[in-house]
Amino acid sequence: MQCPKCDAEFEKVVFHDIEVDRCTGCRGLWFDMLEKEDLVKIKGSESIDIGPDQVGESYDLQRDINCPVCHQKMIPMVDKDQFHIHYESCATCYGTFFDAGEFRDLKDQTVAERFSQMLQTLRRHR
Ligand SMILES: [Zn+2]
Ligand SMILES: [Zn+2]
Repeated sequence: MQCPKCDAEFEKVVFHDIEVDRCTGCRGLWFDMLEKEDLVKIKGSESIDIGPDQVGESYDLQRDINCPVCHQKMIPMVDKDQFHIHYESCATCYGTFFDAGEFRDLKDQTVAERFSQMLQTLRRHR
């Protein structure tokens, strides 16, 4: 499979039995349907996102891409909680492309959210 942003090949990365594709060039991450949802819940999964933020930021501007699986035009999306996270989604296979650093960013928010929920629960029990 070839990266839709920089044309380099993807490599397989396995984390807790979930296989993800990572670009060997720009280090963008390709998630098949629901892989991202599963991975984001697993502790330490941000370790698959190894690319430098600066590289991700430069590729983030490139939004007119075709799905590497079914070659359809992908839809530019914005994360519902973090508006600065821009990713691309395929309406046919439901795969998503995250630039380097964006999955780490997404995870940060998830952990912070969980922490604030925990605090609220503690307050309620006081
Ligand atoms: Zn790439
Ligand atoms: Zn697709």
